[in-house]
Formats: sequence, structure tokens, C-alpha cells
Amino acid sequence: MSTGKTAADTETAKPTGEVVPSGDVREEYEDLVEQVRKHRFAYYQEDAPIISDVEFDELYRRLETLEAMHPALVSNDSPTQEVGGEVSAAFAAVEHLQRMYSLEDVFSLEEVEAWIAKAEAGIAKLGNGTPAPSWLTELKIDGLAVNLLYRDGVLVRAATRGDGTTGEDITHNVLTIKEIPQQLRGENFPAEMEVRGEVFIPSQAFAEFNEALIKAGKAPLANPRNAAAGSLRQKDPAETAKRPLRMYVHGIGAREGLETASQSETYRQLAVWGLPTSPYVEVLDGLQEVLAFIKRYGDKRHSLTHEIDGIVVKVDDFATQRALGHTTRVPRWAVAYKYPPEEVHTKLLDIAVNVGRTGRVTPYGVMEPVKVAGSTVEMATLHNQEVVKAKGVKIGDIVVLRKAGDVIPEIVGPVLALREQQDPPVRDFVMPSECPACGTPLAPGKEGDVDIRCPNSRSCPAQLRERVFHLAGRGAFDIEALGWEAAIALTQPAEPETPPLTTEATLFDLTPEDLADVRVRREKRSKGVATGEYELVPYFFTKATAKTPSKPTATTEKLFRELEKAKTQPLWRVLVALSIRHVGPRASRALATAFGSMDAIRQASEDQLASVDGVGPVIAAALKEWFAEDWHRDIVDRWAASGVRMQDERDESTPRTLEGLTIVVTGSLEGFSRDEAKEAILVRGGKAAGSVSKNTSYVVAGENAGTKLDKAEQLGLPVLDEDGFRALLANGPSDSAGEEDAAEDSADDRPEAAAE
Ligand code: NAD
Repeated sequence: MSTGKTAADTETAKPTGEVVPSGDVREEYEDLVEQVRKHRFAYYQEDAPIISDVEFDELYRRLETLEAMHPALVSNDSPTQEVGGEVSAAFAAVEHLQRMYSLEDVFSLEEVEAWIAKAEAGIAKLGNGTPAPSWLTELKIDGLAVNLLYRDGVLVRAATRGDGTTGEDITHNVLTIKEIPQQLRGENFPAEMEVRGEVFIPSQAFAEFNEALIKAGKAPLANPRNAAAGSLRQKDPAETAKRPLRMYVHGIGAREGLETASQSETYRQLAVWGLPTSPYVEVLDGLQEVLAFIKRYGDKRHSLTHEIDGIVVKVDDFATQRALGHTTRVPRWAVAYKYPPEEVHTKLLDIAVNVGRTGRVTPYGVMEPVKVAGSTVEMATLHNQEVVKAKGVKIGDIVVLRKAGDVIPEIVGPVLALREQQDPPVRDFVMPSECPACGTPLAPGKEGDVDIRCPNSRSCPAQLRERVFHLAGRGAFDIEALGWEAAIALTQPAEPETPPLTTEATLFDLTPEDLADVRVRREKRSKGVATGEYELVPYFFTKATAKTPSKPTATTEKLFRELEKAKTQPLWRVLVALSIRHVGPRASRALATAFGSMDAIRQASEDQLASVDGVGPVIAAALKEWFAEDWHRDIVDRWAASGVRMQDERDESTPRTLEGLTIVVTGSLEGFSRDEAKEAILVRGGKAAGSVSKNTSYVVAGENAGTKLDKAEQLGLPVLDEDGFRALLANGPSDSAGEEDAAEDSADDRPEAAAE
């Protein structure tokens, strides 16, 4: 955006002293104005933005900066002087009784602090009678603003914000939103009142709506904001009625006969009359409370029922609001803090495919790296070819990429308005017909399964690599020295041609000598910077020098020690390590407990397997199918021959103190890893559950326990700390310390909850 020139290059001083911008600045300015107008049109009129909000906000800020540097540029019709949005010809135009404003945006906590300091100073200057401000703090809902006009308690008109003065008449559409009352409840209604609020689609309803669209072969909607705006601006109200729209009140416009003195009091009154007010509004004193609110909702913004893009802070008192007034675009008594963006645009460079552990071939997008929600993203799964089709993305498109909090990044869809201008032109993704790793023709999955698979599970190097990586995982053999790169080096090295592993059956037979010649391709670095050139380097051994011969690296030595240790892992971990479809840690534990040995599992009938609690018919069938393959049985036999323990020694000395109890462990414990805690529960006959319900007997809460602890407290369940947990393990529920703890909170809960 910057012209790259200094102020001295671009400005000349008029004799009056006013700074007149040079031609370059004017050109940049006019270009910016045009761009902002164009993007506002696409966003407000067409509900189909061409650039992301981040990019838009950058353009807008640049425009503001230029205007601040060169006030001579600013004219009345600058986008910074207007509320963005016009009235589409598709709707009748209606004048708001009182203007609707946008909000001043800030993007950092420092800016919030500066804004509050400035507002407080302004308020202090207003003089005596003005109280120190209380800050009405609420969530900034990502939807679209509506203005509801009530006369004597009856909704007579509803309009969009439009340009702030004139909006679009959407009364018929708004009438389809159930929670907006057509007739207010109660009595003493004002003769006239404009209620402002945000119409939105709750996140869950949005996800379901999009799922239905994808199933119907239609493109999903880009985000809840555009979806809400598009839904409300339908020409046919019957179409609007199908969309799961909701609303929360966030303001009041013209009113006659409404005698409330503050925004919070008004909300309370509106709620009495049956208007939907947000449960998340708080009236706070001072900066620290506001910052804490911002942090609190920043942490849990994804567990709310609707999308938010920030927090709005308003002066609560109406008299003070009036005294502070507004600019042409925004009130001076409110500010919006925006959380870091979670949706950005980037170029989809390619769609490649990955072959998974069970042969599933999954397309994924390769993108120009882009920062979103705090991390840089360059790849995102596209699940299967149906999803690629439904999302309507083509290779070369500019796409909307979304990453919400810790959620995996998702390609939402293409920016269609930019498709034509891509160079090289965009092209369709074609699912390969052969496995990219082994060349075997790909096969469709079973009926009803949209996945395509590489049937060469035995020797497809990609599948083997994934299985080897999986078997070393923390929930399987737990071999730390065998990570992703080592799995590649063992199964797909650059050299030698025949890799050390062509089947996982021989994993425990590996010797250091087998690994001496393994080389991998690695990018050369010069002073820590990648050069773009590649070389072959030994992976498991050190490089030989004139003085020292090549020898196993420290990690390789660790690998062999860990392999040795892995042989003594309990049976359930061996089961997980086998990569049997559907057989994860839960089913493996159930199988190990029920049968005790690999032989007994192998010999069991499908019915016997299916009848185990936590196994069931699908897993039983998968087990039978798996053991039917010679090469699968060979893995088990070779591992057993190499000394892998294939049965659990039943330790009769451990008393079954937890028989019949369901225990949830949450947060981190000092003396137990998650797996160890689970193990300790299971060997004592208890059930280790992952989620809290009324059937939970105890919740063990360590450091940083989160929502599970909240839920336990809500349900009044006994909560144990680490000492309480140890006591429970040792003695069972009868006289554990935890029960005493729980008894202090709720004596009634104790024996019943434990007995459930
Ligand atoms: P805004 O979204 O920053 O803030 C004003 C609006 O916030 C209000 O009109 C109201 O609808 C809404 N709001 C939500 N919760 C509220 C609450 N609790 N109290 C008060 N208001 C609340 O301003 P704007 O002028 O509507 O639009 C600017 C936004 O739109 C920016 O995020 C910008 O990035 C985006 N935009 C994007 C493009 C694009 O091309 N991508 C174009 C134009 C605008």
C-alpha cells in the first residue's frame, strides 16, 4: 500500500502553510477510495465479499491514515465520513427516524486502553453533574444490524442499516424471525421506539445448514455473517423463514415515551416486553474489568452459541452518551475491539492427495502460506472429492481460509469474483486413478462410503509409513524416537533402494547395521537460511569425518532402547499399534480386559467379540476381517517371536477397588500422565470416561481443569484432587479422602453418586 516515498518527497507547502499532497498521494488516495467503495458494495449489497475483512480493514486504515496526514484530501463523500452500505433497488428505501451509526474499531488492547483514557478525560471535562462512566460491555455479534420500529407495542417496520440514514425495508422477512415479537408483551409501551439489534445465525445452525447444502450438491455459505445478511435480504420471505435466524438487541434509536436513563436499564425494560436481549452483557467499572471481559470471551469465543468478532464497550449512561455525541460515522461513546482475524484469503496453489494409514486417499489444498488466528497455514484437508466438488474450489482460485481457535484450518470456498482474473487460469481438480505412492489403481470404498482407497495396503509405502508412524504414537507403543521423519526414513528413504522396513512385521528385528546406509533428501542451509538446493544425508548415523567413522546418532540409540521397552507394553497398546480399522485405545482396552491375550482375541468368534462392552458388531467384524489376512497374522507372529508381550499378566495383587465406578480425569496431575491415570482406574475394575455426565461417579481434577470441572460442579458430582484420587485407588469409595471432600460440599450426594 505504501508509496515508498517520504513525506518530504510527496508534499509541497502552500504559502498559507496548508500541506497539499502531491500527485502521487492523490492517486493513491483516489485509488483507495474507489477500492473501499467497491468492496463495501460487494459486502453490503451483494453479501459476497471479494477480499477478507482483514484486507478490507487494512485498506480502510490506510485511507484513514492518508486523511489524517493530509486533511485537505477529505471530502464529505469520503468513505470515512459515511456509514458503509447503500440501499439496493430490490427493496423499498425507508428513512430511519434516528441515524444508525457504525462503530470505531480498534485492534489491540493498547488501543482499548487509549480509547478509554481519552473517553474518561472527555467525560471528566463535561463538568460536575456527569458521573464517572460505567462501561456497558457486550459481545460484538457477527451478523447484520436491523432497525425495528414499534408503535404502541406493535412492530410496524423493520429495516437494514443501509447508509445509516436510509435503510432497506425488510419487514416481511423480519416477521419470519420467531423471537422478534410482532406485538410486545405487557403494558405501558412507548408511543414510538426504534430498537436496534443484530440478526445472526447461531454457529451450530449454520454448520447444519451448510451440511444440508453440501449434501444437496450446493455450495456452502461462506460464513455466518454473510449467511445472515443474505438470508435477511431475500426477496421471498418464505426463503428467509427457512433460515435459522435469531436476534439480540444492542441499541435504541428514536423514542417517545420511554423514560429509561441508561442503556442497561433499557435492555432490562426491552426484555420485559419480550425482545431478545443478550445474556452476555455486563456493566463494568474501569479499564481492568473491561480488559478481563475481553480476555474471558477471547478464550471462550468458540464455545458460545454464535460467532463474535469482538467486544463492544459503550458508555452506559444516556445523558453522557448525548453529551459526547458522534462523528458523521460513529458514536464517540462506544468502541469495538476486534479479535485477531480467523478468516483470510489466500491462493490455492494445488490440490494434492495423501494416502492414509488405512489406504484412504484424501485430497488436501496446498496454499500460499498465510497467517490466520495466530499461526501460519499452508495446507488444509479437503476430505474427499465430493467435498472438493461441493465447495466448488478449483486449483488456482483465491479461497477463503478459516481457522477458528484450535480448530484445524478449513478451506471454506472460492472467491468467485476473482476467478476470471487468475493467471494461470484456474483448473478443476481431478482425483488420480492410481495411488501416487505405489501406482496401484485406486478403488472406490464400500457402498455408501465416498472415500477412495489404495487397495495395496500391504506394501504401499505411504500406508506403511503412516502405520509405522502410528504404531510409535503415544497411545500405542510410545516410541518417542520414531517420529514422522524417522517413519519416512525407515519406509521411503532416498537411499538405499530397498528400505529398512518393507513391512512393520520386522520392526523389532531391526539392527543398527540395517540403518547405517539410510539417507534422506534434505534442503541445504547456509547460515540457517534455506538455499533451495538439496543433498543426501545419513539419517540414523552420524556423518563420517576423517577422524571419526560414522556411528549411530544418540536418537538412533534411543530408538533401539525404546524398541526394547516397547516389547513389554500392555496388550491393549499392541492392539492399537496394529492399525486395525476402528480399533482405537477404547476398544483395545476393552478387548484386552475381556480376553487377556492376543491368541484369545484371534480365536474368539465374531459374536464373542461383539458382545464385549465397548466393542460391538462393527469392530468385531473389522477384527475378523483383519485376522483373516495372512500377512496381518504374520505381523503378530513376528512381533511375538521378537519378544513382544502378547498377553497381560493379570495382576491379582491389585485390588479391584473401583468395580462399577465411572471416573473422569481432567486437567494435569503431578504423579500420573493421562494414560497412567486411565490405566490405574482400569486395572482396578473402574471405567475411565472422557466426558462428564450424571452417570459419572467421580471427577478427578488436576491443574488447569476446564469445562469438565465446571460441569461436574453443575451436576453436584464428587470432585477429587490428586490425593483424593490416590486414596480412591487404594481404598475404593468407602473411606476415600475425596468422599470426605465431597461430603463437605454436599453430604447427600456421597453414597448415591458413588454407587451409580
Ligand atoms: P463494524 O462491523 O465494525 O461495527 C458496527 C456494527 O457492529 C453495527 O452496525 C452492528 O451491526 C454491529 N454490532 C454487533 N454487535 C454489536 C453490539 N453489541 N453493539 C453495537 N453494534 C454491534 O462496522 P461496519 O461498518 O458494519 O462494517 C465494518 C466491518 O465490515 C469490518 O469488519 C469490515 O472488515 C467489514 N467489511 C468487509 C468488507 C470486505 O470486503 N471484506 C467490506 C466492507 C466491510
